[in-house]
Amino acid sequence: MRILLIEDEIDMARYLSAGLQEAGYQVTHCADAQSGLRLAQEQAWDLLIVDRMLPDEQEGLTIIKTLRQAHIATPVLVLSALASLDERVRGLREGADDYLTKPFALPELLARLEALSRRAGVQEYSPLLNVADLTLDTRNRKAERAGTLINLQPREFRLLEYLIRTQGQVVTRSMLLKDVWDIHFDPGTNVIDVQISRLRNKVDKGYHPPLLHTIRGIGYRFGIHE
Ligand code: CA
Repeated sequence: MRILLIEDEIDMARYLSAGLQEAGYQVTHCADAQSGLRLAQEQAWDLLIVDRMLPDEQEGLTIIKTLRQAHIATPVLVLSALASLDERVRGLREGADDYLTKPFALPELLARLEALSRRAGVQEYSPLLNVADLTLDTRNRKAERAGTLINLQPREFRLLEYLIRTQGQVVTRSMLLKDVWDIHFDPGTNVIDVQISRLRNKVDKGYHPPLLHTIRGIGYRFGIHE
């Protein structure tokens, strides 16, 4: 679990980082709103901990607002010395998922983080994806068909995960290029055909029913039905 901690009080940040690391979290700390916002937008985090009163009169809630406007839904716990009911309500209204007032005890913070990540996990998705007798375990990066382990390269795994998540829909080559390869133009190669045929060999060959269907001239569809 990766946590981004945005907190300007150095003693508090040290204390929290140590406690969180001891509890098994990977912690990155930054002490001002600007670099905090940048890190929160540029990298993937499991949780954010944001202090409200940051240097240069920056307000931690502004960071959350900006993230939410950019559709970044990472759970955020706000820390603040502003303990009044109005302030707590404002924090939650502006996109915080939880609000903890200073001073607080570390065990309470840890318990709240656990609750937050549990809620986020339920909202997001289960790590296990199934189609017919195919199972993809996205947490442990394992794929099985009819109980047999399938050995996938990282790109093949990503491709299969994408196909399962879009099952039943036709996915075009340009969708695959964009969403699986991060390529936003047509490179004019047969990279997709090659990968699809490798994946088909691993996932469909020797099994029934076939799951990876070619929609001629358009793209592919994943699922039990052709
Ligand atoms: Ca502060």
